[in-house]
Amino acid sequence: MKISVIIPAAGRGTRFDLQQFEKSPTKLFVPLQGKPVLAHTLAAFQDISRVDETIVAVSPDTEPLVRDIVRQHKLKSVKIVQGRATRAESVWNALKKVNPEILWVMVHDGARPLISRYSIEQLMGALSDHDGVILATRVIPTIKEASWNTRILRTVDRKRLYEAETPQFLRKSVLEAAYLQVQNPYDFTDEASLLEAIGADVCVCVHEKWNPKLTTLEDLKKAEAYLAFDQAGTVQYGLGRDLHRLVKGRKLMLGGILIPGPMGSLGHSDGDALLHAIADAILGAMAAGDIGEWFSDKNPEYKGKSSAYFIRKVMSEAQQKGYRIQHVDTVIHLEKPKLGPLKHKMALQVAKLLGLAANQVSIKAKTMEGLGEIGRGTAVAAEAIVTVRKVRP
Ligand code: MG
Repeated sequence: MKISVIIPAAGRGTRFDLQQFEKSPTKLFVPLQGKPVLAHTLAAFQDISRVDETIVAVSPDTEPLVRDIVRQHKLKSVKIVQGRATRAESVWNALKKVNPEILWVMVHDGARPLISRYSIEQLMGALSDHDGVILATRVIPTIKEASWNTRILRTVDRKRLYEAETPQFLRKSVLEAAYLQVQNPYDFTDEASLLEAIGADVCVCVHEKWNPKLTTLEDLKKAEAYLAFDQAGTVQYGLGRDLHRLVKGRKLMLGGILIPGPMGSLGHSDGDALLHAIADAILGAMAAGDIGEWFSDKNPEYKGKSSAYFIRKVMSEAQQKGYRIQHVDTVIHLEKPKLGPLKHKMALQVAKLLGLAANQVSIKAKTMEGLGEIGRGTAVAAEAIVTVRKVRP
């Protein structure tokens, strides 16, 4: 199924105070996180494979600005058509320009820039064999119906109330038929009501995401705050610990640095306890298992392997899942040699492996005052705590 997206964007939006926006003829051109509202709206449909084209209905005075947006944001398959005074007229104009092979249209308000890909996909999935389906939210407040003199007549049963949003996903032929059959098509405020007027079968698709129509300056500020909040993500922590036996005839690697001395760590890989603890902490922060599961010491592939390889693997997983590492704090437990002079070098190396700045990596070292295996010099241990931020992928 191929879909043509129609964006009515010719409205004047008179309830929006444009005073502080000299270069914005309407609210669709005011900046939201530094890019025009309309650019957000158009971009939302760009990477959806079933969307074949986007038709924007604009007023003649804003057409050059829309062309600039299309160019600057490298938007593909966007057609620009002449908009009209009402939304219904603009959509009717755009309908005539839909590629004749396309049987489905999705009409979306230019002033709903926060529409998410998730909601668009939910809407497409809800179509079934209806003539149309529209995105909607449940009405939460208690609703009163009153007479003209404000006397309450009744409390409306909100269980069956929905607030209509866009996109509205409709069979093109039925929408066209509705325009031709109803008496006054340009008075209708959304496409679903046109379909309802001819008795077509339209459904609501309830979604949970916030998809406001920016009507006032206050709405813009809320959208700005919402995006900042959404992108801030959530902070998660991961803990890692590792211990290796120290023996003669092996190298001692810590944080990817060779530590001079007579003893080295025994291990299937290069036995870098610090990098193992960090890798485990990163996996922990993502709740993605531990390095034993990821890099089995039974697997010959990892024999003698540099532990930097494990970090790189874990980092690429973090990248893919939308995690950003913010800080790593570590403690190494080793009796000798004293690590003081090498801590900075280790921090630089770990920072390099994790793509961080040196001040985002903390390396601390302790002896065990001669106590226990570590104190006797027959083991090395390391602990790490990693702070990650999960942002939208
Ligand atoms: Mg280990």
